[in-house]
Amino acid sequence: MLGLMQDQELMISAIIKHAARHHPTAELVSKTTEGDVHRYTYAEFERRARRMVRVLQRLGVNVQDRVATMAWNGYRHMELYYAISGMQAITHTINPRLAVDDVAYIVNHAEDVLVFSDTTFAPLIAAAAPKFRATVRAVVFMCDRAHMPDIALPEGMELLCYEELMDAADEDYVWQDFDERTAATLCYTSGTTGRPKGVLYSHRSTLLHAFSVGQADVIGLRAVDRVLPVVPMFHVNAWGIPYGALMAGATLVMPGRFLDGASLTKLMNDEKVTMSAGVPTVWLGLLQHLEKSGDRLPTMERLMVGGSACPRMIYEAFDGYGVRVFQGWGMTEMSPVGTYNTAKAAHIGMSAQDEYTIRVKQGRALFGIDMKIVGDDGAELPWDGKQSGHLLVKGPWVTNAYYGDAPGSALDQDGWFATGDVAALDPEGYLEITDRSKDVIKSGGEWISSIQLENIAVGHPDVAEAAIIAANHAKWAERPLLIVVPKAGHTIDKASVMAIFDGQVASWWKPDDLVVVDELPHSATGKIQKLALRNKFRDYLLTKSD
Ligand code: AMP
Repeated sequence: MLGLMQDQELMISAIIKHAARHHPTAELVSKTTEGDVHRYTYAEFERRARRMVRVLQRLGVNVQDRVATMAWNGYRHMELYYAISGMQAITHTINPRLAVDDVAYIVNHAEDVLVFSDTTFAPLIAAAAPKFRATVRAVVFMCDRAHMPDIALPEGMELLCYEELMDAADEDYVWQDFDERTAATLCYTSGTTGRPKGVLYSHRSTLLHAFSVGQADVIGLRAVDRVLPVVPMFHVNAWGIPYGALMAGATLVMPGRFLDGASLTKLMNDEKVTMSAGVPTVWLGLLQHLEKSGDRLPTMERLMVGGSACPRMIYEAFDGYGVRVFQGWGMTEMSPVGTYNTAKAAHIGMSAQDEYTIRVKQGRALFGIDMKIVGDDGAELPWDGKQSGHLLVKGPWVTNAYYGDAPGSALDQDGWFATGDVAALDPEGYLEITDRSKDVIKSGGEWISSIQLENIAVGHPDVAEAAIIAANHAKWAERPLLIVVPKAGHTIDKASVMAIFDGQVASWWKPDDLVVVDELPHSATGKIQKLALRNKFRDYLLTKSD
C-alpha cells in the first residue's frame, strides 16, 4: 500500500517560489563588480529569475542544455542559478581561477551552449573562446550596456549584454514541475591530478542537501539571519547556501569580487551579517585585518570553515572576537557537505581547552550521509580516533559517476564512494582528516598526518603558511619535510619553528627539516598543490639521511 500523501517533486524552483511567497520582503544584497551595493527583495528576485527564463528560451536553450556561468557571488548569478535549473536546463558553474586550457576543456566537455560571465573575466573569456567548440553560441556579459567589455569572439559566437536581454523579455514564465531526478547543475572538480571531472547534481540531491545543511546542528539558518557566503557560487554551489538561505527566508549578502579582510569587514558590519562561510585562507585574511585595524564584528555570530583543515589558532582568535567558528568537510562529489562539527551531549561541561581538541576535527556525519574507514585491504577499521584509513561515503547527495561516465561507475560493489581522503573516526563519530591518500607520509611503515603537522606549524607567530610533504629517506623510506612561507616582515628562525612541535606530537612525527619559500603553489580551489612541491623537494633529505 502506498502512503496517501501529496506527491510533489523536489524542485529547485520550489525554493524560489517559497522565498517569493513566504519571505517576499527578505533581501538579496550584492556588492557589484563595479563596487556599488545592489539590493532587492526575494519577490523582485523571483520576478527577474522568471524573466531570465524567457531570455534563455529566446536564446534557444532547450531542456537539459548546459549553460555556463563564470561569475562572483551576486544577484545576477543567483538569477541564473534559479532560471537555468528552473527551466530544466543545467547550470554549469565554471571556476575562473582555472587555467585557460582547463576552462576551454570543461566548456567543451560539457558542450555548453551559452557562457554567462562577469565583466572581470573578459580577458579569460577572450583567451579561452577561440578554444571553445562550436556548441557555444554566445557569451553574455552580466552587466548593462555601459559596462560591456570590448572583446573579439570567434566568428559565429555572439557577444550579448545581460541587461539588454532582460529589458526585452517578459516575466510571464510559470515554474514547471518535472522528475526530481532530472539533472540541475554541473560542477567540475579542480583536477589537481589529471583533467577536471564533472559532478552532475539533480533537483532532488540539491534539495536534500540544502535541507540537511540548514539544520540546527549544521549551519542552522533562520529567517532573522543575514548570511554572507564568501565560498564561491562558481565552485561547490557555495556549500548550498544559495538554496538554504532562501528556504529559511534569511537575507543573503553577496560579496562579489571583494574578498579581502577590509572589504569583508565593511560589508559584514554595514549589512549586519550574522553568519558567514569560507575557506581558512579567507578567515586568516579577515583576522589579519581585524588585528591591524582594531575593527570588530559586532553582529557576527558564527563562521563556517571548510575546504581545507582549519588550524586551532583560527578558532582561538575568533573566540577572542566573540565569533564562534564551526568546521565542515565535504567535496564537490558530495554536493559538497558531508560532516559538520557541533557538540554532542557528551561534550557538555568540557573545558574550553578540551573542547578545542574536538572542535578542530572535521565533524560528524549529517543525517543522510554514512561513512566508514578501511585499511589497504578494504577491511573496515574501528572508530577509535587513532587508526587512519581510506574514507568511503554513501548518501543521496553523493555522486555515483562522473559526467559522461556510466552510472554507478564511481562506486564500489557495495555502493560506497572512495573520497581519496585518509581519516580517523572517534567513538562519537567525529571525523579527523589526516591527509589526501596521495599525500600520505609513510615513515618506517607508519602513517604521519601532514594536516596535523601543518596546523601546528601555522600556529608559530612567524609562519604565514605551511606545507608538509613526504620526502624520500634512505632509512625510513619517507620522512616529513616542512615548507614554510614567512609572514610579511618576519624571518624564520629554524630552531624556533621546529621547537613548536615538541610535546604536541610524538617525537618521530617531527619534520626532519624545514625549507623557507616565498610562496606555495595553490590549485584553482585554493588548495596547496603538494604534487608540485613533492616534485621539487622529494630528494631534499637524501643527502642528509643517516
Ligand atoms: P573540493 O572538491 O575542491 O571541495 O575538495 C574536496 C577535498 O578538500 C576533500 O576531499 C578534502 O581533501 C578537502 N577538504 C574539504 N574540507 C576539508 C576540511 N574541513 N578539512 C580538511 N580537508 C578538507
